[in-house]
Amino acid sequence: MSFFKKTVLISLVACLSAISCLQSQNETDVTVIKGATVFDGNGSSIADGVIVTKDGIIDCIGEKSGCSIPNNSKVIDAKGKFITPGLVDAHMHFFQTAFFDSRPDAMDINSVYPISEVIAYQRRNPQRYYDSYLCSGVTAVYDVGGMSWSIDLQKQAENNPKAPHVAAAGPLLTPVPGAPFDLPSDKVLVHLNSKEAGVKTVQYLSDLGSTGIKFWQIRANDPEYMSYIEAAAEEIEKKGNMMIAHATTLEQAKAALRNGTKLLVHSVENTDVDEEFIELALQNETYYNPTLIVGSGYTLARRAAADIEAFEIVDPNGCVDQKTRTLLETASQFKDHPRMTENVKSRLMEFDSETDRVSEQQLRNLKRLHDSGVKVVVGTDAGNPGTLHGVSIYDEMEAMQSAGISPEDMIVIATKNGAESMRRGDDFGTLEKGKFANLIILNSDPSQDISNMRSITHTMIKGTLMKVDEIVEK
Ligand SMILES: [Zn+2]
Repeated sequence: MSFFKKTVLISLVACLSAISCLQSQNETDVTVIKGATVFDGNGSSIADGVIVTKDGIIDCIGEKSGCSIPNNSKVIDAKGKFITPGLVDAHMHFFQTAFFDSRPDAMDINSVYPISEVIAYQRRNPQRYYDSYLCSGVTAVYDVGGMSWSIDLQKQAENNPKAPHVAAAGPLLTPVPGAPFDLPSDKVLVHLNSKEAGVKTVQYLSDLGSTGIKFWQIRANDPEYMSYIEAAAEEIEKKGNMMIAHATTLEQAKAALRNGTKLLVHSVENTDVDEEFIELALQNETYYNPTLIVGSGYTLARRAAADIEAFEIVDPNGCVDQKTRTLLETASQFKDHPRMTENVKSRLMEFDSETDRVSEQQLRNLKRLHDSGVKVVVGTDAGNPGTLHGVSIYDEMEAMQSAGISPEDMIVIATKNGAESMRRGDDFGTLEKGKFANLIILNSDPSQDISNMRSITHTMIKGTLMKVDEIVEK
């Protein structure tokens, strides 16, 4: 675990005036937040809790009588508020913008937004997304597929006091030759066309420091291709890395589990999960990431592009950066795009955002897996068209709750489980002595309804407390 020295402590809860705020800066590295109802991420809560943070780390957490308050500490009174660990988005992509400019395979708008420029910009400017995530209460993200530069973000973000923790898998292995968003300078997709290609890619990415090796598509009915996956999976084991698989049918998901997959992304969508699947997932200690809202996100972005309905950005704290807003606000410039045939437009017209947002099959499987003890994580797939970095976490959590998962369980799923899935469970994800001081302060009780995560006022990342509506430059 790395430790961060705070230079300036912004603590607007305690600052009654600018003067008292300035006076308290730089005097101490110890912050105490007291009086709130604290959910620790392990499923327990403390009424009238005390959290003492020192040099970015939780030094004590407990009831009023359990932690002594050092003399020189900055004390924040959070009476009547609610605290949880920082949220974890266990599935996002830094190379993607939340519009089609980074997904030419879905709709090619290269003539307006050249893909090479888009990707170069994404590479240079992760901070705008770091800000959006922190503003939304997300203090750790897992990029489960991108160019190899995404792997470098892990260290950069770790050493950046104003960034969430980042884990990244880097390029994906795929059976699809010459996939459409290959770039000459770098690739998102590596063609898995032999055992040797699989083994070499695993070695290469593991040596770069990737967290996880992701397979984009499992072809359960193709024994030749599955033998490549097996060879790669053995190498993953040797390298001490872990396997991530994109699987949307029961057959694919089981084949992925038989090869030791630790993180399954996207739901089983074609049928009900069965006992065999559940047993495999439990044996493997696999995390299941349902990505419930990303599919309809595409539809909403397409509707905006077709000029059917403007894309609605729900963002009272101003977490979404201007560039992303502009992309979505000007989407209708593509209403005459060759992909926007009359057929496509009439199908887009039929979509009802009230009833068509998530599929019943996905919800049913999620509930069964959660009830069976399979560990579930929140992952938005942000960066895909219509799924915004940061703020989309609320939609995803609400969709998961609508499967019938209790809000208390959702707190654990959105914090502890996510941290574990990115192999950082020892460092953060719960509020415990010795872990990073990553937490959020809310006005309303998230154990009553996970929607109350939207009542966030502050995020603490690595010990620095920030008022969320002041994080993103307006
Ligand atoms: Zn994804």
